[in-house]
Amino acid sequence: MDDPLRFFRDRYLAVETKAELRRAGVRVVIVSNPYDTTTIQGVWMEAVDEARAQTGSMETSFATFRGMEENAMKTDPETGWCYKNGGRAPFGYKAIRVVRGQDKRGRDLIKTLWDIDPEEAEVVRFLYVECRAERRLSYKATREVLNEAGMLSPTPGRPWSISTVCDMMREDRVLQCAGVYFWSKEDHRTSGRRFKPKDEWIRVDNAHPAIITMEEAKNVIAVKQARKTNQRWGQSERSDWLLTGKNIFGDDFFVCLACGARMSNYHPTRRNRRCYLCGSARYRGKDACVHKPVDKNWVEAFLLERIKETFGTREAAEKIVKNLNEALSDEIAIWAKAKEQLMKTLQYNQLKISNLVRAVSEGFDVATAKEELVRLQDEKADLEKKLNELEVESRSEPRLLTPDDILLMYQRLEDAFTNQPNKDKKKMLRCFVRRLEFDPKSDTLTVYLFAEPASTTTAVWFSGGARDET
Ligand SMILES: [Zn+2]
Repeated sequence: MDDPLRFFRDRYLAVETKAELRRAGVRVVIVSNPYDTTTIQGVWMEAVDEARAQTGSMETSFATFRGMEENAMKTDPETGWCYKNGGRAPFGYKAIRVVRGQDKRGRDLIKTLWDIDPEEAEVVRFLYVECRAERRLSYKATREVLNEAGMLSPTPGRPWSISTVCDMMREDRVLQCAGVYFWSKEDHRTSGRRFKPKDEWIRVDNAHPAIITMEEAKNVIAVKQARKTNQRWGQSERSDWLLTGKNIFGDDFFVCLACGARMSNYHPTRRNRRCYLCGSARYRGKDACVHKPVDKNWVEAFLLERIKETFGTREAAEKIVKNLNEALSDEIAIWAKAKEQLMKTLQYNQLKISNLVRAVSEGFDVATAKEELVRLQDEKADLEKKLNELEVESRSEPRLLTPDDILLMYQRLEDAFTNQPNKDKKKMLRCFVRRLEFDPKSDTLTVYLFAEPASTTTAVWFSGGARDET
């Protein structure tokens, strides 16, 4: 699986499909991220992981994660480039899969490398060198130029947007096109932080063919730094207006029931209170829709409360635990199996050694036996080392969860929520809540939750500040 978004566009379908696949014995693994944070389980996986990291009780680093890290450090003997982990190659490159030997059972070992995609690379060069380093165009102007020239965009079939241009200008992205590979950028251990500080990233130069030179990359980065003071993009993502924008299906998240418009942010200057207000009423005036601001803090606190009440029940917690533990059991079973296999090989090795020793005592040629004995003893040492490593690893294996773990998390939801960056808060809310509707005529707020069975909850908002929930 390399593109979770495509797979999980429809959450219900995703959960169903995964259950279906599991019944058929297939395991869905997201290669680019050990957790699928578009599902409630994924959010908890992450939360649980973080909570354990904080208390210091969790030394588990996922086996997959470590494997990926090793992969990134290895160089392909044939091409000299670095092996890549799963996932889509960045714009300008294509992922190619090569066979590098076989495993013990004779199956092909497949590795991924990045190669230049000539058509996309041409766009990348044009974007970085022509538009940015030479003409020093703004993101907006760059977007216009690219679209007017009908250039390929990173989203197939879609024109360039400011956010795609902006994304391409990230320092690591620019360097990536100059052949640099970054690994271990994401921080899974510190809550409220998505990326580790840059100096902790693993950087591998000459990891894949370069589209631009290092010199050109530096020029592109310099343009951005010069412009940094008046850079405004990405602000909406960081803003603390948690309910504006889209839900996970790409529909408006919070709407006005009277006119269907999106609720927008509204900060009356005379008053201190920040509110959500129907977009028509805000931008087109009182004739367009009812002017009835809803207090921002009130709506957001109400949402959290309802999430706790709906999902923080023992029944819901048991269900989540069941799903999480199934996934964890899979990991544990893999460890157990590996251990069993190693033990068997070790026993066989010891048998061979004792046979050889007996053969010598019965007159077998000592010089020949010695050579074989050394080889077997090396093998034995190697097996014991591996077994020992596995032992250490499985000692830190993830403990199975209990419903109480989950319930405790819900009790602490506000704290956990408060400490996250706004971007993550938005994402998390959207995992639980599908849609919000406000009817300015009856002052009623209706919340549609992703609970199963489907659940809605309503509240009445009095602009005086009092409230009544039903
Ligand atoms: Zn309206």
